[in-house]
Amino acid sequence: MAKRKTLFSCGHKGYGKACHRCTQEFVANQHCVQLLAEKQTKKQEREASFARDAIDLRGLPDYVVTKARAIIAALGENKNYRDFGGKRLRHNRLIISIPVGRHYRMLCKDCGTFLIPHKVLSHEDYNVCKPGS
Ligand SMILES: [Zn+2]
Repeated sequence: MAKRKTLFSCGHKGYGKACHRCTQEFVANQHCVQLLAEKQTKKQEREASFARDAIDLRGLPDYVVTKARAIIAALGENKNYRDFGGKRLRHNRLIISIPVGRHYRMLCKDCGTFLIPHKVLSHEDYNVCKPGS
């Protein structure tokens, strides 16, 4: 008996019990869904990691986020801000400015025995922030 093509419910014709074309498409779609889910999970993890930060680091370049976190962690271990090139602001001795990469500064408040990270500013924002300008 010659093999006969079956008309599947999807409208395709083919051999076997299930439509080969649609099965392949389904697998491809599954793969897409999986990739999308992974992407979503990564996004959520990223969001969660920002929620754990002492200061808001959203919207900053990745290398700045990484570096800022390292500095925050080090400050938490009572490392000296001078180790990171930090300086006291001339006009406000209680504020410490620590460079984060070449274009960013982290402002911290000196609370006597420890520093509280305040925010990360780009060089441009930082200059705008300076009083008297
Ligand atoms: Zn089909």
